[in-house]
Amino acid sequence: MKKRNYLIAGNWKMNGTLGSLREVIELDKALNNPEIELVLCLPATIIHPAVKKVLSTHLRIGAQNCHHHQEGAFTGDVSAKMLKDIGANFVIVGHSERRQAYGETSELVKEKASAVINEGLMTIICVGETEEQKNNSQTEEIVCAQVKKSMPNAANEKNTVIAYEPIWAIGTGKVPSLDDIKKIHGSIRSLLGKIKGEDVSQRMRILYGGSVKPGNAKDIFCLEDVDGALVGGASLKAADLVEIAKYAQVY
Ligand code: PEP
Repeated sequence: MKKRNYLIAGNWKMNGTLGSLREVIELDKALNNPEIELVLCLPATIIHPAVKKVLSTHLRIGAQNCHHHQEGAFTGDVSAKMLKDIGANFVIVGHSERRQAYGETSELVKEKASAVINEGLMTIICVGETEEQKNNSQTEEIVCAQVKKSMPNAANEKNTVIAYEPIWAIGTGKVPSLDDIKKIHGSIRSLLGKIKGEDVSQRMRILYGGSVKPGNAKDIFCLEDVDGALVGGASLKAADLVEIAKYAQVY
């Protein structure tokens, strides 16, 4: 029975200027399967111009981070309220690059996710283990603790997506075995069942992220509890993201 539509989310990180909007336009034209949702999480500087370029309803524009307060004396920061104001629909929170480089804790990530949800936007909460933790067989323990601590009480399938992103797989070309992806996605799903109840857990999407490319997307998307991908490097070119998205099917 179909419970979840695939979501393919691109994360451009700190890449892209106004000239890069041609990729947004190309992506907008290329895919129009209503059962596959696409979102491009762009640098804040090009969110609004990108929103104005998108003509179709299947492509959304998102952000990569936000402050946990709505407004105030937080020089250089951008709030979920501001992102909503310029047309963003999604906000990534807790990406490992922010957890590692800026010391963002799961408690802070939870506050950011709450801020996104309070604005009526969709949040993508990222979790994932380091290579050392993986080698110490701590993946499940680390990832489940992050999910538990980062997810706001108000989270449900309509406002939240979980992205499992092993840190050692991001931007490295390394990908966990299909068995390992299947196992951890299954563990996240059963944890969601315990925290949120069976109905929400069966409807909430869990994305895989970490070196997803056109060449490996199909095998990953076939796994039972994988509902799409969070894609970094391969999302910068519309053609690659279109290729990846074509492997997403509804089950
Ligand atoms: C990411 O930045 O979230 C990511 C998964 O990057 P990449 O696809 O380049 O590994």
